[in-house]
Amino acid sequence: MSISRETEEILADFGLRSSGELISFSPIDGSEIGRVSVGDPASACAAAEKAFVQWRVVPAPRRGELVRLLGDELRKAKASLADLVTLEAGKIVQESLGEVQEMIDICDFAVGLSRQLYGLTIASERPNHRMMEQWHPLGPVLVISAFNFPVAVWAWNAALALVCGNPVIWKPSEKTPLCAEAVLALVNRAIERFGDAPEGLVQLVQGERDIGEALVDDPRVALVSATGSTVMGKAVGPKVAARFGRVLLELGGNNAMIVCPSADIELAARAILFSSAGTAGQRCTTLRRLIVHESVAGALVARVRGLFAQVRIGDPRQPDTLIGPLIDEAAFSGMKNVLGDHLERVEAVPGGFYVRPTLVEASAQEGSVLKETFAPILYVLRYADFDEALALNNQVPQGLSSSIFTNDVREAERFMSAAGSDCGIANVNIGPSGAEIGGAFGGEKETGGGRESGSDSWRAYMRRQTNTINYGSDLPLAQGVRFDVAP
Ligand code: NAD
Repeated sequence: MSISRETEEILADFGLRSSGELISFSPIDGSEIGRVSVGDPASACAAAEKAFVQWRVVPAPRRGELVRLLGDELRKAKASLADLVTLEAGKIVQESLGEVQEMIDICDFAVGLSRQLYGLTIASERPNHRMMEQWHPLGPVLVISAFNFPVAVWAWNAALALVCGNPVIWKPSEKTPLCAEAVLALVNRAIERFGDAPEGLVQLVQGERDIGEALVDDPRVALVSATGSTVMGKAVGPKVAARFGRVLLELGGNNAMIVCPSADIELAARAILFSSAGTAGQRCTTLRRLIVHESVAGALVARVRGLFAQVRIGDPRQPDTLIGPLIDEAAFSGMKNVLGDHLERVEAVPGGFYVRPTLVEASAQEGSVLKETFAPILYVLRYADFDEALALNNQVPQGLSSSIFTNDVREAERFMSAAGSDCGIANVNIGPSGAEIGGAFGGEKETGGGRESGSDSWRAYMRRQTNTINYGSDLPLAQGVRFDVAP
């Protein structure tokens, strides 16, 4: 069966038919697999503004019920949605299933959270006074997402935004519009079962960058949560700041792994394979720099080269494939620009861009080593002294994820300490990619500083209010200030 026919059948399962001017291509063979209509940013913002007025006063646990129903629909459609992710984003089936599972997990998390949007009570310095903090809904949340997590990133944001009392507008990547349509179909099923959700609570606005720009500029959008390249974040961040909107940026990474002399080399090699070559090197947390002690570098590099040479590259629908295609020709050119003739293209499926992961020994951390090339290139840097390894880990503009392989507790603790890794994520004896939803996800520096998903990331989707209540019959002022009127 052709890829477009396969896609058509999956879309039919979601009650969808392809039509419109925005074309989706499968990275598997480059063929057209469907079309969607470009959305209207202004009308979406108007509808979201109206929906907010109703949704913000729905009790949070009831809002959680909608997210519970969404999780239920996702469970039922897990296999079909994962197949669509594979067809449109080129991920291997295992990773696509994992991506949908991540959506289910964040829904479960958000349902529990809907009963735990806790504020503090604070001791007042004044007699017969009480202070407290409340968290209120913020307003319409715009989610801009990237092609490489075509469904999960929306869910990380939407599940939290919805229980926090906010409508959601989604501008997905123009490279994965069909996945977004399928997710919206599931949202609509959940909304129907829920019964009384306001119209315009969850909307999808398809389009290219210009549509994203129009949404970013709209003052009715209270929070812009944007996931994508640092170039995109540099354009979006200042625009939202200029109108005093709130922004949550999840941008590019340049993630490292330090491998120390005491490390379990076989464990490290397996982690390196998954985190550098998995998803064809197209994860924000992909391992891009291996900082390895000179005493173990020879053995480790040889082992990783061996794994790269034998890893199965090809059609991501085949169960034994570990590496699928790059998203498109532009991604291939980006890799070619760095590697030149060292790039090994694999002739897997005609029309697709399949590449072998490539290890590059770098004598210094400069040039392309400082940049995020969204492809499976792993730079190897050798170190002699642990301080040098830490410095290399941190001396890049990005600050998303990092990891260390060591059996020396001092090295592990120093790596996670205030003087250690400067990244949002710092792992020990696991690779830098493949986060769980329970932790806050995001990074520092050019990665944008945003945090989403678990822990207390929900606070980004709410506004904080401090309340002071006087239950006495006097009016004492704070700091002992006297301001009395003569009787
Ligand atoms: P991209 O920046 O090209 O596009 C991402 C999204 O932003 C798309 O929906 C696009 O239409 C939109 N966009 C682009 N410019 C815009 C603008 N000026 N105004 C409004 N919207 C705009 O990224 P991509 O190629 O789809 O994804 C790969 C990048 O995303 C990599 O850099 C990767 O590291 C990053 N990423 C980061 C995370 C994270 O959580 N930190 C997660 C996934 C991907």
